[in-house]
Amino acid sequence: MSPALTNFAYIIAAVLFILGIKMLGRAETARRGNLVSSVGMLIAVVATLAHAGLAYSWIFAGIVVGGAVGALAARMVKMTAMPEMVALFNGFGGLASLLVGWSEYEKILHRGAPVYFFESPVAPYFTWVVIVLAVAIGGATFAGSVQAWGKLSGKFGGRALVYAAQPYVNTALLAALFFVAAGFVLGNGILASTQVYALFLALVALALVVGVIAVLPIGGGDMPVVISLLNSFSGMAAAAAGFVILNNVLIVAGALVGCSGMILTIIMCKAMNRSLPNVLFSGFGAAAASGGAGIEGEMKAASIEDAYYVLEAASSVVIVPGYGMAVAQAQHAVKELGDLLERNGATVRYAIHPVAGRMPGHMNVLLAEADVPYEQLCELEEVNPVMPSVDVVIVIGANDVVNPAAVTDPSSPIHGMPIVNAHEARTVFALKRGQGAGFSGLVNQLYFLEKTRMLYGDAKATVSALVAEFKNVR
Ligand code: NDP
Repeated sequence: MSPALTNFAYIIAAVLFILGIKMLGRAETARRGNLVSSVGMLIAVVATLAHAGLAYSWIFAGIVVGGAVGALAARMVKMTAMPEMVALFNGFGGLASLLVGWSEYEKILHRGAPVYFFESPVAPYFTWVVIVLAVAIGGATFAGSVQAWGKLSGKFGGRALVYAAQPYVNTALLAALFFVAAGFVLGNGILASTQVYALFLALVALALVVGVIAVLPIGGGDMPVVISLLNSFSGMAAAAAGFVILNNVLIVAGALVGCSGMILTIIMCKAMNRSLPNVLFSGFGAAAASGGAGIEGEMKAASIEDAYYVLEAASSVVIVPGYGMAVAQAQHAVKELGDLLERNGATVRYAIHPVAGRMPGHMNVLLAEADVPYEQLCELEEVNPVMPSVDVVIVIGANDVVNPAAVTDPSSPIHGMPIVNAHEARTVFALKRGQGAGFSGLVNQLYFLEKTRMLYGDAKATVSALVAEFKNVR
């Protein structure tokens, strides 16, 4: 394939990526958007493989082994473990960029001169700078993602780790990374090649250490923001790798991932009413364990029958799904209950919190799978203003996203985070298995309110029992 034809194919692919992302913004076009982006990626892959002089045996071996591992992992992963999987995917994206930068550096070492991007006196610097970016961002993304994977899966403990000297240690390590990177870029051609190579190895090591220390002070409910940020970094590393190997479509795809990940990060920070620096440096998860003190009252259980009578009389119901609905895989039963309530004359809405569950859009995916009409899904801005006039809120395995301490308790670690104002409704039914805390480890005041009744048990079993009650009585 001629370079002109390859670049033309890359432009088509880039246009399809952008159109696909645009279509993902609306539920009705999201599936098609996914397909459009996938076609773009297929075109990009075919155009890249059509380059002359590629070692196809290595490429196909990589595709077969990587594809098999990926397919197996995707089949085996539980829905509730998706964030861990996403964290690992981001990490491997970063590792790939690190390895691309490293292998290109080795190539240059053996060939004796860098491939110049522009024919200008600064050209060598450009090559070294993009190698540094691919290696440093890729390495930090890899190590940070492995750390995030360990925290999310509970293997490294999910809490934030903070200590007094942390800001100084972090600043010193970042400064060291910067100076080593500068030494590598400026030292090429001046220092002995063994010295430059040593600087390169130090750069790799420091990038990995910085990735780990960056995620250490983050924990609890802030982890989704970190995953999203790491996703953005994996895109930036890929874009840098694209500059290293002069591949236009990798630059475009990396930039798209980098920007969309950053936008999602900012949206999630806004959803928690926090700034990004506050999420990254405040050690939220460490403080969270101590929250919830001073809650008075007791959690009062209700029977399925009692709940049925209240629901039967309700004319407006808001369902708040959370992580527990995903664990219980209760979405189909929830949809059935919603339908029955509607047939009974109630207005039914689903309140979707942006960080409910364990991945962005988690609740949307589950409810779409159960064919809940998209018009019934409401964001906080829509549902909170009408909450005082809602007869019943059914909280299904949600905890942090309905914790009124975020609004009422200035001393709470989550104070200021927008929540679904379930506590403002007339009656609340909270479905959970027992006294388990939410992801952030906080005790939830909502369960202790006079208007709240607990429906204990697995969410799917409880909702199915309510459905059966409706069907039996009708
Ligand atoms: P939470 O994690 O706060 O609470 C879930 C609740 O579900 C628990 O209190 C648990 O109580 C209950 N539960 C668990 N299993 C079941 C079951 N089978 N049946 C019934 N109940 C069950 O969930 P939320 O959705 O309210 O909040 C999400 C949290 O996760 C936020 O803190 C968010 O920041 C964080 N997070 C979000 C991510 C995202 O991208 N959305 C990613 C990573 C973290 P019990 O044990 O008593 O049953």
